[in-house]
Amino acid sequence: MHEFAVTRSLVDQVLESSRQASAWRVTAVRVRVGRSSGIVPESVEFYFSQLTRGTAAEGAKLDFEAIDLRIRCPKCGRVFGDFAELCDCNAGGEVLAGQDIVLESIDVD
Ligand SMILES: [Zn+2]
Repeated sequence: MHEFAVTRSLVDQVLESSRQASAWRVTAVRVRVGRSSGIVPESVEFYFSQLTRGTAAEGAKLDFEAIDLRIRCPKCGRVFGDFAELCDCNAGGEVLAGQDIVLESIDVD
């Protein structure tokens, strides 16, 4: 169900962008998916095709780019690729990227 919610918000963003561009049709959608997001691209594709039926984005091609996890220590500012590698500051980690899905761009006609 997680994918349904994220895909719906993705579709909202895509349609909003296409409206702003006065686009006739969306041909391709590029998204960045964090490797640690737990999001399954196949599920997003499935919901995307359902949710865009009858819209300007129907039939648009989805392009996924996998993004590595990046965590920054708020104390020393070092950046890590895994929670297990965090420094000894014990300040917790601030996730910079890799845990969500982000709309990068769309191609329109
Ligand atoms: Zn640190």
